[in-house]
Amino acid sequence: MLLQGKKILITGVANDWSMAWAIAQRCAENGAEIAMPYAMPNLEKRVRPLAEKIGAKFVTECNVQNDAQMDALFGAIEREWGHLDGVLHAIAFSDKNELTGRYADTTRENFKNTMDISVYSLVDLTRRAAPLMHDGGSIVALTYYGGEKSVPNYNVMGVAKSALDSSVRYLASDLGRDKIRVNAISAGPIMTLASSGVGGMKSLLRLNAEQTPLRRNMTLDDVSGAALYLFSNLSSAVTGEVHHVDCGYSTTGMMPNELKEVLLRGLDEGEQ
Ligand code: NAD
Repeated sequence: MLLQGKKILITGVANDWSMAWAIAQRCAENGAEIAMPYAMPNLEKRVRPLAEKIGAKFVTECNVQNDAQMDALFGAIEREWGHLDGVLHAIAFSDKNELTGRYADTTRENFKNTMDISVYSLVDLTRRAAPLMHDGGSIVALTYYGGEKSVPNYNVMGVAKSALDSSVRYLASDLGRDKIRVNAISAGPIMTLASSGVGGMKSLLRLNAEQTPLRRNMTLDDVSGAALYLFSNLSSAVTGEVHHVDCGYSTTGMMPNELKEVLLRGLDEGEQ
């Protein structure tokens, strides 16, 4: 019960595949009370039954681009709970048509919208949550390696993740004196509603599993375990970090020998 008595706002639950849902369950199992808003009306029918399973509160519509809905959510949390101990930012959006092909073809409109929803929302959530974190707190965002290196088709979302990673460091610097820690988990790829919009996701998952040092893809249990650590006092001296939970993918500089051999054999056969 690492989170006994803690109150945590979990954003980004869309369905039972969502990483945020795995994290919400893990936090609840460890004694936390959960607030679990949803982004838009059509998600209520999926999110409400999940929220009921873990006794989550504040199951209200909250689109991060809608200031009135953000005011209402934080107003309700302040009135009913009076404080917060943690926030999970698990929010990303970009036009699916631009998550394939060239980054160079990104439109100004989609660039701005992607940044607003996927990055500025962390700043806004943090600024609103901080005054409720009377005894310190932990803010955790979900990011991806495509913000550190170019990954085919990830395009503007990769640029957004770079900005998210950087925001984590700046927010950690701003809020450290209030004992509020801000970190990101750089999760390995996994099939969800959001990731299914990235071109070539199925083949990326197949290749990724062959390429990581652990020779497998990350699971929802892996990511929720890391979030539990970051929300708990076990990580009390950790802030401003991007913690990779990716079966070691980001630590490698070249694919393993067995994969290289398969690839070279394929190339040789193609040449014949
Ligand atoms: P998901 O589709 O379950 O979650 C994305 C969430 O963003 C959804 O709940 C959606 O409702 C929410 N959202 C989108 N626009 C919003 C808005 N305007 N206001 C409020 N919420 C909004 O998919 P997921 O993969 O669990 O994504 C969660 C986070 O994890 C995202 O930041 C994503 O980039 C990140 N991530 C995903 C992967 C992956 O491979 N799936 C890997 C690393 C990081």
